[in-house]
Amino acid sequence: MAAVMERLETPTPLRDFPKAPRIEGRGTPESAWRNCPHLGALPVATLEALVPHGHRAVVVAPHPDDEVLGAGGLMAQLAQAGRELLIVPVTDGTASHPGSRRWTPERLAQERPLETVRALTLLGLSRIRLHRLGLPDGGLVAMESALAWQLAPQLRPTDVVITTWRQDGHPDHEATGRACAEACAQSGARLIEMPVWAWHWARPADPRLPWSRACRLPLSPEVEQRKRLAVRAFTSQTRPDPSSEVSCVLPASALARVLRPFEVFFR
Ligand SMILES: [Zn+2]
Repeated sequence: MAAVMERLETPTPLRDFPKAPRIEGRGTPESAWRNCPHLGALPVATLEALVPHGHRAVVVAPHPDDEVLGAGGLMAQLAQAGRELLIVPVTDGTASHPGSRRWTPERLAQERPLETVRALTLLGLSRIRLHRLGLPDGGLVAMESALAWQLAPQLRPTDVVITTWRQDGHPDHEATGRACAEACAQSGARLIEMPVWAWHWARPADPRLPWSRACRLPLSPEVEQRKRLAVRAFTSQTRPDPSSEVSCVLPASALARVLRPFEVFFR
């Protein structure tokens, strides 16, 4: 499967990110990140430090899969610890396959939320609350204030909100990060950001990454395996679709960057 996926990858820009020219081609290979001294030197965070006991974690994902790509290991550990967790998929991810005959927006609207449920079950999160917002995929910049307005009343002052980084390079990811920051400011909740697409466009030791507030959460081999299976549950994203302008949204090279034995968060 991996070999087929690599063969079908295209070096052309990913067409569903017209406002993010930095996200193109295959991106920085994981082999380069493995030799990044900054990554190796990051302070190690514990689960307790990220989400203290008695505090709820609220994971806000612009598209169904971002929560697992960026924080699947953290969520699996929260589940193992019996912590309270709310997951908020902001869109249903209907814009991932422009021009596809197989993955039409209507079919994606049905399938991607189901992929999320399958992935969360594999992480051990089968009884976790999901609160889908159904906002338009690719349209979150225009909905930023509305998103903050929807999120803020849902948050408690003791919540820890985990979402995509405000400079992640994808307009929806950045708008979601900004909306969460605003909702946290209004509610008193704490914000933790996760890079997702940044691993693609950034370079090792890249000064655009906020290394001074970055930390790494180690994943046990069991949690790492759970995350690996959960990521594979997003079959619309991980399997090639020759009929789409984007032949494979998450090819093997992209998966390698999120299937590390640790996750990185910006505090
Ligand atoms: Zn996304």
